[in-house]
Amino acid sequence: MSSAFEALNSLLADPRRILLLSHVNPDGDAIGSQLGLKWLLEAQGHQVIAANQDGVPALLRADQVAPGWRELVRNPMKPQRRGNGYELVIALDCSDMARLGQAYDPSLADAPLVNIDHHITNLHFGALNIVDPAASSTAELVWRVAEALHWPIGPQAAQCLLTGIVTDTRSFRVGHVTPALLGVAQRLMEAGASLAAVNELVLERRDVDTICLWGQALAELRLEERIIWTAIPLTMRARCNSIEQSDSGLANFMVGAEEADVALILTERADGQVDVGMRAAPGFDVAQVALALGGGGHPRAAGCTLAPPLAQAAEQVLAALKLALAQQRQQHLPAQQSPAVEPPA
Ligand code: 5GP
Ligand code: MN
Repeated sequence: MSSAFEALNSLLADPRRILLLSHVNPDGDAIGSQLGLKWLLEAQGHQVIAANQDGVPALLRADQVAPGWRELVRNPMKPQRRGNGYELVIALDCSDMARLGQAYDPSLADAPLVNIDHHITNLHFGALNIVDPAASSTAELVWRVAEALHWPIGPQAAQCLLTGIVTDTRSFRVGHVTPALLGVAQRLMEAGASLAAVNELVLERRDVDTICLWGQALAELRLEERIIWTAIPLTMRARCNSIEQSDSGLANFMVGAEEADVALILTERADGQVDVGMRAAPGFDVAQVALALGGGGHPRAAGCTLAPPLAQAAEQVLAALKLALAQQRQQHLPAQQSPAVEPPA
C-alpha cells in the first residue's frame, strides 16, 4: 500500500465526523467521487456530510446515476450538520482551494485537509495529497483508495464512482483510458453499476434551453489562428432561459472541428465574472494557459475565471492561447520534418 493510502488509513482509524467537499459548478466526477466516497466511508462507520457550493446539477439528480444525491448539501456549516465540528475534511476533484468556493469555511482549517484529485495543475494544498494526473478521474482515485484499504464496494458506491469515471472520460473516449481503467469499470458494473444509465441520462441528455444556447453560441462562432471560439453574454442566456451554467458539451463538440486545435468558450456569469472553458485537440495542451490565468485543469480540458468585461477577457485569453499554440507548434515541427525511417540512399 502506498504511504498516502496508509496515511489516510491512519486518519480513519476511529469513527470520524468527515466533511467531503468538491468544486463550484460541479460535474459528474465531482458529484460521483463525493457521493461514492460518502457511501464507502459510511459503510466503514464514519459520519459523513457531503457539500459543495452549487449543489447537484439537474442531469445528476437521478438515483440511477447519483444515488444519495438528495443528501448533498450546499451549506455544511449549519449547526445541525456541523455537530461538534468536523474532524477531517476531504476535497475532491479540486486543483486548488479556491475551487471549493463558499462551501469551505475558514473554521475548517482546524481539521486535517485531504486533497484527492487528478488535475495536472493541482497545487498540493492538503496536509495529505492523493493526486495523480494520470488517473482518468477523481472517482478512479476513490476506487483505488477503496481497493488499497480493502473496503467493500456496494452497488450505490459503485454507481457513483462509475458515473464519475464515465462523465470525465466521455464514456471512455479520451486518450488516457487504459486497459486497467476498463477493468475498474468492469468491476464497478459487476458490483451493480449501470453504464447505460450514465450514457443515457447524463452524457446524451440536455434540456431545450441548453440546446437553444448552443444554437445562439454557435451562430457567433469565430475561427482565429486555429482557435475556434465563442462568447456567451448574459443577454444570450436570458434569451434561452438558461440560468444554469453552460455544460461542457458544447466545448467538446467545437473542438471536433477539423480546422481547430483549440476550442474556447467564454461565459458571462450573473456576478459579471467570466468563466473560461478550453479544450485542446490531440497533441495540444491548454492546462498551462489556464494555470497562468489563475485556473487549472487537464492538458486537453482546462478553465479559469477572469474579471469582466467579457470582451477584454476574450482578448486576454486569446492572446495567451495564440502564444502558447505557436510555441507548441514549434515543438511539433522537428518531429514532423524528420522521417521516422531514413529512406534508403
Ligand atoms: P469545464 O470547461 O468543463 O468547466 O472545465 C474543464 C476543466 O478545467 C475541468 O477539469 C475543471 O476542473 C477545470 N476548470 C474549469 N474552470 C476552472 C477554474 O476556474 N479554476 C480551476 N482551477 N480549474 C478550472
Ligand atoms: Mn475530474
